[in-house]
Amino acid sequence: MNQDIRLALGLAVTVLGMALVARRALFLYRLVTDGAPAPGRASDVKEALKAELADVFGQRKLLKRPGPGLAHFFTFWGFIVLTLTIIEAYGDLFSKTFAITSWAGLGFIEDFFAVAVMVALATFSIIRIKNSPARNDRKSRFYGSHTRAAWYTLAMIFGVIATLLLYRGAQVDTGDFPYGKSWWPFASRLIGGAFSGLSKGANLDLETAFILAQIVILWGFFVFVLNSKHLHIFVSEPNVLFSRRPKALGPLGTTPDMDPENMTEETVFGTGQVSHLTWKQRLDLISCTECGRCQDQCPAWATGKPLSPKLVIMDLREHLFASAGELLAKKAAASGGPAGDAAGGGVGVATKPLVPDVIAPDVLWSCTTCGACVEQCPVDIEHVDTIVDMRRYQVLIEAEFPTEANLMLRNVENRGDPWGLGSSQRLAWTEDLGFDVPVVSGTIPDDVEYLFWVGCAGALDERARRTTQAVARLLHQAGISFAVLGPKESCTGDPARRLGNEYLFQTQAQTNIETLKAAGVRKIVASCPHCFNSIAREYPALGGNFEVYHHTQLLEKLLSAGTLKPINRVEQKVTYHDPCYLGRHNEVYDEPRGVLGHVPGVKVEEMHRCRNKGFCCGAGGSRMWLEENIGTRINVNRTDEALATGADVISTACPYCLIMLDDATKARQAEGTVPESVRVMDVAQLLEQSVSAQTPS
Ligand code: SF4
Ligand code: SF4
Repeated sequence: MNQDIRLALGLAVTVLGMALVARRALFLYRLVTDGAPAPGRASDVKEALKAELADVFGQRKLLKRPGPGLAHFFTFWGFIVLTLTIIEAYGDLFSKTFAITSWAGLGFIEDFFAVAVMVALATFSIIRIKNSPARNDRKSRFYGSHTRAAWYTLAMIFGVIATLLLYRGAQVDTGDFPYGKSWWPFASRLIGGAFSGLSKGANLDLETAFILAQIVILWGFFVFVLNSKHLHIFVSEPNVLFSRRPKALGPLGTTPDMDPENMTEETVFGTGQVSHLTWKQRLDLISCTECGRCQDQCPAWATGKPLSPKLVIMDLREHLFASAGELLAKKAAASGGPAGDAAGGGVGVATKPLVPDVIAPDVLWSCTTCGACVEQCPVDIEHVDTIVDMRRYQVLIEAEFPTEANLMLRNVENRGDPWGLGSSQRLAWTEDLGFDVPVVSGTIPDDVEYLFWVGCAGALDERARRTTQAVARLLHQAGISFAVLGPKESCTGDPARRLGNEYLFQTQAQTNIETLKAAGVRKIVASCPHCFNSIAREYPALGGNFEVYHHTQLLEKLLSAGTLKPINRVEQKVTYHDPCYLGRHNEVYDEPRGVLGHVPGVKVEEMHRCRNKGFCCGAGGSRMWLEENIGTRINVNRTDEALATGADVISTACPYCLIMLDDATKARQAEGTVPESVRVMDVAQLLEQSVSAQTPS
C-alpha cells in the first residue's frame, strides 16, 4: 500500500478514536467532580505517592495471590513498556526506517513483555473459566460480575499484542526491523521466520495491514474500555492516589459536624441520594474491576446474606450512570454552561432514595464493618465508609433501621452502655480480685501510669469480665500502676457510630473526652478493640488525644522485657481468632500471637483465614445487637473453622469475639459434636494460667 494512503488511514482512525475518547473522558471527569466534597484527600503527598508506587506500580495487593497477581503485574507493566512499540508503529507510518533505537536490548524487552502479556491473558482465561459463576454459583468471586465484557477486553488486549508481534515479524523480512540480525527480539524473529517464505512485497503488505490493524484495535479498545465496566484500567491509578491513608479502616472516613448551631435547611447527614456521594466515592464506583476479591472475603456473603461489597459498588455505579444525565444537566443549569454528554437516565432517577431503591435494607444492615473488603480491594475502594454513610442517612434523616437496635441505642443514651445495666455495675468485676483497684475521683494520681479503660462488655458481661480480671491481675503482678474510671466510664459510642447514629457517638465521645481530660489521663490501656479503635483513632477528630494501648500490646511488652514471667506449662493446642478491630482495622496481629508464644506448652495452630484475612465473628458494625435471620450464623461459621484445627482453646483478644465464639462453641457442645473441654478464652486468660501460681477457673 502506498505510504501516503496508509498514513492517512492510520491518522484518520487515530483522530476518530481520540475524539471519542476525549468526549467520554470529559463526561466521566464531569460526573466524578460533580460529587460532594471529600476533604483531606492526598493531603499527605508522601504517603499517597508511596501507596501509588506500592499498590499500582508494585501491584502489592494483587501479588498476594501469586497466580493472578503475576498475570496482572505483567499485563500492567506490559501496557507501559509496549507503549514504545505503539510509538514505533506510528513512526513507521511516517517513515519506514523509523526506530527509537537500534539497541537490540530494547527489542528483547519489548518482545519479552509481549510474550508475558500473552501468557497472562491465558492465565486470566483459565482463572475465569475455573471460577465461572454458572458452575460455582455464589462461591465464585465473579458471581454478579460482567463476565462477557471481561472476555471482550481480554480479546482486544490479545488483538493489540498479536498485531504488534505480527507487524514486527513482517518487518524482520522487509528489512525495516530496527534491530538488524540480532536474535534478542526473539519472538519477532520467530514470527519473521514463519513469514520468510513470502516475498518482500507480501511482507510489506502484511506489515502495513498489521500496523493499521493494531491502531484500529488499540483505539477500539480505548473507546470500549471507557464505555464499559473496565474503566479501572484508567481510573484506578487516581483512585489509589486519593484513597485514605494509611488505609480506609480504623476510624471512619468522616466525622460530620453535628453542632446544631451550624446546621441549615440543606444540612444532610450521610448519603441518601446519588447526589450526596462525594467525588471520591464516585471515583471508587467507576474504579471497581469487578474482580470479586471483596465478595470472596465477606462474612455476610459467605453465610448466605444478600450483602456483597462488590454488588453494592456495582449497583451504586449503575445508578450513578443512570442518574448522570440529570446530575450533569442540573450542574450545567446552575453554572449556565453546556450539559455535555449527559448520557443515561430519565427524570427523577437521581432523586431516588439509595435505600431501598438501589440498595436493599437487608444488604445495608448485614454489614459487620469487618473491613475484609477494604483490605482486599486492589484499587483501594472504601466500602465501609460508603456503607456507614448510607446507614447514617437512614438513622439520622429517615429514622429507618432495624427495630431491635432501638433498645441498644436507648440504653447507650440513657444508661451509658448497650445492655442498660447502668454505672452502678461498672465496678462489680473488682470485687473478688484480691487487691484494690484505684478508682479515679478528681485527677489521676501522678504515680498511676495507666488508665485502664474497661469497656462496657469488660465491666458488665460475665464472660468478658474474666478477661478484665485477668488483665488487671497481670498488670498488678507486673507492678504496673493503673486506675479505672468506674461509674464515670461510659460507652465509647462505637456501636452507635457503626449503626449510623453519629449524633449519639459524638455525644458519648465528647462526654468521655471531657472526663478523661478532667482526670488528666495521658496513657490508656483498653481491653476491647472497639474501645481501643474509638479512643485511639476516632477521638482525636473530636479533640481527644491520648496514648492508647490494647492490653495485648502492653502484655507483650511486659513479657519481652521480662517484667512478666510465664512459669507454668499450659499444655494446650490453641488457635487464635483475629478480632477485626484489632487486626485489620489497627494492624495488631503480632502482639497477641507474641503473648501466646511466651506461654510454655502452648501449641498454636493457625486457622486458614487468619491475620489480614481473618474471618469476622459477626458482632462488629453493631451486628451484636441485631437479629441474624438470613443465611447461616457468622459466629458458627468461624467457630467451626476454629474447631476444625483440633484446638483445645479458641483464643481471642476482644470481648465481642469472645462472646460470639463462646456462644457458637456452646451451641456445638449442646449438639454433642464438640467435647465439653473446649474453651474460648482471651489470650490474657491463657497467659495468666502460666504466670500465676494457681490456675484460675
Ligand atoms: S465490611 Fe465486612 S461484612 Fe461489610 S461488606 Fe465489607 S467484608 Fe462484608
Ligand atoms: S470493590 Fe475492589 S475488590 Fe471488590 S470487586 Fe471491585 S475492585 Fe474487586
